[in-house]
Amino acid sequence: MIEIPNAERGKVIVRFAPNPSGYLHIGHARAAILNDEISRQYGGKLILRIEDTDPGRVDEESYAAIEEDLKWVGCDWDMKIIQSDRLPVYENFARQLVEKGHAYLCNCEPEKFKVLKLQKMPCPHRNMEISENLKNFDKMYAREGWTVRIKTDLNSPNPSLVDFPLLRVSKEHHPRLKKKELVVYPLMNLSVAADDHLLGITHVLRGKDHLTNTEKQKFIYKYFGWKEPEYIHYGIMSIGQEGKISKSEIKKGIDENKFTGWDDVNLLTLRALKRRGINPRAIRNYMLNLGVTDVDVEFSEEALYFENKKFIESSFRYFFIEDPVKINVENFPYMDVQFPLHKEHSYGFREFNLVSKEGKINLLIQKSDAEKLKEGDEIRLMNTCNVRVKCLTKAEGITEIIADYVENSHGPMVVANGKKGKKGKFFNVAKVLWLPDENLCPGAKIYMPGRIAKGICETGCRNLKENDIIQFETFGFCRADKIMGNEIEFYWTQR
Ligand SMILES: [Zn+2]
Repeated sequence: MIEIPNAERGKVIVRFAPNPSGYLHIGHARAAILNDEISRQYGGKLILRIEDTDPGRVDEESYAAIEEDLKWVGCDWDMKIIQSDRLPVYENFARQLVEKGHAYLCNCEPEKFKVLKLQKMPCPHRNMEISENLKNFDKMYAREGWTVRIKTDLNSPNPSLVDFPLLRVSKEHHPRLKKKELVVYPLMNLSVAADDHLLGITHVLRGKDHLTNTEKQKFIYKYFGWKEPEYIHYGIMSIGQEGKISKSEIKKGIDENKFTGWDDVNLLTLRALKRRGINPRAIRNYMLNLGVTDVDVEFSEEALYFENKKFIESSFRYFFIEDPVKINVENFPYMDVQFPLHKEHSYGFREFNLVSKEGKINLLIQKSDAEKLKEGDEIRLMNTCNVRVKCLTKAEGITEIIADYVENSHGPMVVANGKKGKKGKFFNVAKVLWLPDENLCPGAKIYMPGRIAKGICETGCRNLKENDIIQFETFGFCRADKIMGNEIEFYWTQR
């Protein structure tokens, strides 16, 4: 249960209020999930409020994407409003503040205003007659440069609180409104306070980075005599690699083909986590574990993976061989090997019928394993048998390996000292992933943060369906993204 002050069951109204300036990322998920959870736990309401009154920061495709991504993380809202539909509401409140003498029209140069502010001096407009201010209010619609400033405290120790502006005039193209003429937009403190009041928001839950905004919004509440909501500020969740969530950097990266899109495997957008096969309930659990503490925290991918593993650990196991290299094994007996699809679940087996020709068989191992080998080394082909490297040649970076089968190194599980184990002497060597060199999916590609792993995987992977999660042994969990016969593309999920 999330503890919040003065919460009456059935009466709690909270909101999640994103800017449609890009796709939601892991940082947004925290605010969305905590508000959604509070509305559920207290039998209240969640309002989705799209804050799109800064035309330069509006990205048309984000409107739909935000809703899709919120649904994906399990958020369910009772009402949606879009602020660009409500411009007259904010204009009306700003005019009322002017009429009551709590705000004034100002067209000072920003630099000049700043100097006066630092000297704790009023600008020439601050003490104008209300009638004059109202005339200038109408002028504001004809010209850029005017704004409405709310009267606060010239002696405030925080200069940003001093007579902060409430409106902005802009003729910048608004992707949703599609207007070309001058439009008067509310700045966020006006529109947020107006809507929080009108929508009856009882609890405003947001990060400590909004503390100054809260102070600003309280001036508006005070002048109108509105009842303030409970403000709850949780600690900042910092995300070490800002580039994974920064909208401007992601947009630039997409334009420069550094990222494939908003769901690029390197990003921490919800789209990217979805494509990687991170379960939305894991994201929810992670955020609920963080809770509403006011302690600053760093987002931990490892902690998210810990939650996610609970949802994926029963996935089928397969082998993936990155950059396969051929190993020719001599004196190889006929062998029929079976590997379980999962060690703890009885899902069945993957079978490999290893038939040698004149005692020889070609197998494939990973280049990274092959590079470590030298003549005379004995290695264990995972879960199968041992081989000893007889001859190793390197030509044009490609290693050709000839090895000898080691007698009696495969045998059944034995029970020694009452414990299940395997014959020690044959198993105390490096374990190497392998696959036969036929009946494979030769075109396996795994999109991973920082690189694309290319190689081969088992034929069983052909039966996967899109979105299936599997574990490639010793490699990690992956989500099947595209299955095109022998060409299969995966997205890397986690270790
Ligand atoms: Zn002024």
